[in-house]
Amino acid sequence: MLENRRLKTVTEDRKLRNMAKNTTPQDKCSFCGKLKSESLILVSGIDANICESCIEQADLILAEEVNKNTTAKFKFSLSKNIKPKEIKAFLDDYVIDQHDAKRTIAVAVYNHYKRLNQRRAEDIEIEKSNILLVGRTGTGKTLIAKSIAKFLNVPFTIVDATVFTEAGYVGEDVESILSRLLQVCNYDVNAAEKGIIYIDEIDKVARKADNPSLTRDVSGEGVQQAMLKLLEGAEVLVAPQGGRKHPDQKMVKINTKNILFICGGAFDGIERNIGQRLNTSSVGFKSETDSRNELDVENLLQYITPDDLKTFGLIPELIGRIPAITHLNPLTKEALRRILTEPKNAITKQYQKLFEYENIAFKFSDEVLDFIAETAVEFKTGARGLRYVCEAICKDAMFDLPSEENITEFEVTLKYAKEKLTRDKVAKLAKVA
Ligand code: ADP
Repeated sequence: MLENRRLKTVTEDRKLRNMAKNTTPQDKCSFCGKLKSESLILVSGIDANICESCIEQADLILAEEVNKNTTAKFKFSLSKNIKPKEIKAFLDDYVIDQHDAKRTIAVAVYNHYKRLNQRRAEDIEIEKSNILLVGRTGTGKTLIAKSIAKFLNVPFTIVDATVFTEAGYVGEDVESILSRLLQVCNYDVNAAEKGIIYIDEIDKVARKADNPSLTRDVSGEGVQQAMLKLLEGAEVLVAPQGGRKHPDQKMVKINTKNILFICGGAFDGIERNIGQRLNTSSVGFKSETDSRNELDVENLLQYITPDDLKTFGLIPELIGRIPAITHLNPLTKEALRRILTEPKNAITKQYQKLFEYENIAFKFSDEVLDFIAETAVEFKTGARGLRYVCEAICKDAMFDLPSEENITEFEVTLKYAKEKLTRDKVAKLAKVA
C-alpha cells in the first residue's frame, strides 16, 4: 500500500539513526522512530507510541479513504429519462402552486447536471445560471430548496445570509458558506465543487439606504461584495471547520465555478418599487396605460425586474451574477387548503401519523379544513399560519387522548375547532371570535 510505503521510508531512516543512539522503544515513535526529544508530542498506546507527524499523516490517509467513499455516494449525472418536466413533477409532490418558481428551478438543476458533464474540449462552455427566488414569507422558498435537495444526488446545503459580515468584523466570513458544503460531503473538495447552495434571506444584506457614508456597511454592501467572487466562480481559500480565518488554520482551496447558488428572500416592501416603476413607465403611453388596468396589484412581485432589486439595495454586480429571477405567489385560501392535505408530508398527515402511534384514527372534518385555511390567511404568514392554527386546535387532544384507553377514533368538528381556537391566545391575534 502507498501509505505503508510512505511511513516505511521515514521509518527505515530513523531506525538506523536510533540504533546508533541506543534508545528504548518507549522513547520513540513506533511508526517513524522519531525520538521523544525530537517530537512535539509522543502519544503512548499499550505497546506503541506515535508522534505528531505520524498522527498528521495517518489523518490524511484516513481523509483520503473517507473521501473515496463520499464521492461514490454522490452521483453527478441524471438518468436518461429525467428531464425538467420530471424534476418539476417531483417538486409538485411537495410544493403546492408556485409553478413559475418550480419550472425555473427544474431547468436550472437540469442544466447544472449538463454543465457538470460537459467535456473539457468542447468550445462552447455552458455558464451557470444562479437563481433568485423572491416571495413573501411562508410561501415555499425554503421548501422548494429542501425538496430539490431530496431529488438531487449532489452535495447541498442551506445557509442564512443574516449571519455574514464583511471579513474582519464580528460575524461569519462569507467563505464559511463553502465550509458548510464541505462538511456535508465529508471534506471531499471534488464533490463540494459540484454542489448546490441555498442562501436564505439574501434581502437582508441589501444596502441600507440611510447608511451615512462615513460608516461602513459591514453586514450589507460589504457582504454583497464578498459574495461576488463566490457566485461568479473563483478559487477560494476556505477554513474547513468554518468560523473566522486565523493564521494557523489549515485552508482548503475550492473552485466555485460549478457550484450552483439558489438565493431566496422576501424583499419586504419591494412591491412599492415595482409599483412606482410600473406607474412611471406607463406615463404618456396610452396603450400601456390601458394594460396598467390589468395589473394584478395584489401580486406585484410577478413583475419584478433586476432594476427593482437595485432600487431595493442589491448592488448591480451581484444582480448580474444571479440571472434567473423568479417569484412565488402569495398563497390563497384555496392553496392553503390544499397544503393542509395534499403534499407528501402535509400537516394533517403528520397529525394522523402521531395519533396512529396511539392507535387512534384521527381526522379533521372538511369544514374544519376550510376553517383552518381561512384563519391562516388572516395571519399573513403564508403557510406558516396553518401550523399555528392546527397546533392550537389539536393541543388538548394531543395531551388528553394518549391516556384514554377506550378511544380508537377522533374527528375534529367545526364546533370543537372554533372552541379550541377561541380559547387560545392565537385566536386574539387573528381576531377570530
Ligand atoms: P419561506 O418562503 O419563508 O422560505 P417555507 O418554505 O419555509 O417559507 O415554508 C414554511 C412552511 O410552510 C413549510 O414548512 C411548508 O410546510 C409550508 N409551505 C409553504 N409554502 C408551501 C407550498 N407552496 N406548498 C406546500 N407547503 C408550503
